[in-house]
Amino acid sequence: MTIDINSVVSLNYKLSNHQTGEKIEETTTDNPMVFLYGVGSLMPEFEDNLHGKKSGDTFEFSILADNAYGQHSEDNIVMIPLHVFQDESGNVNENEIRVGAVVPMSDNEGNHMRGQIREMTSEFVKMDFNHPLAGQDLHFTGEILAIRPATEDELAHGHVHGPGGHHH
Ligand SMILES: [Zn+2]
Repeated sequence: MTIDINSVVSLNYKLSNHQTGEKIEETTTDNPMVFLYGVGSLMPEFEDNLHGKKSGDTFEFSILADNAYGQHSEDNIVMIPLHVFQDESGNVNENEIRVGAVVPMSDNEGNHMRGQIREMTSEFVKMDFNHPLAGQDLHFTGEILAIRPATEDELAHGHVHGPGGHHH
């Protein structure tokens, strides 16, 4: 079969920075990427480039930053009052709250996001919510390992069950 809507796809990929060639991440055959195709869980352009491929096919393509994680924006750098990070006694956990640390946060609407601390003063923490890959054009190479139809349960849940997927 070939990759189409509602396929469960296993693949290996290597992701590099398209401009510099620097490797960003890579899967292994023991721990491939497994995903349900066509449900919007991945970058649309990533999926478009895999459409119609079959097991054993290789791929190589690039995705511009605008179609990946977007551009780095100063709007995503926020000053947060230090008291947000203080416990009842006014102490800050210095193991977790320090320059360079990546901290899980949530906004007023309950959306979870991760921010990296850029600077700290006695009153404010300057936190960068840009995605670590913002501003980077991405280059993917890899190979399709396996394709199978999704089960009814997987389609109902919108994700893969079993090896490489959810266990529940
Ligand atoms: Zn499930």
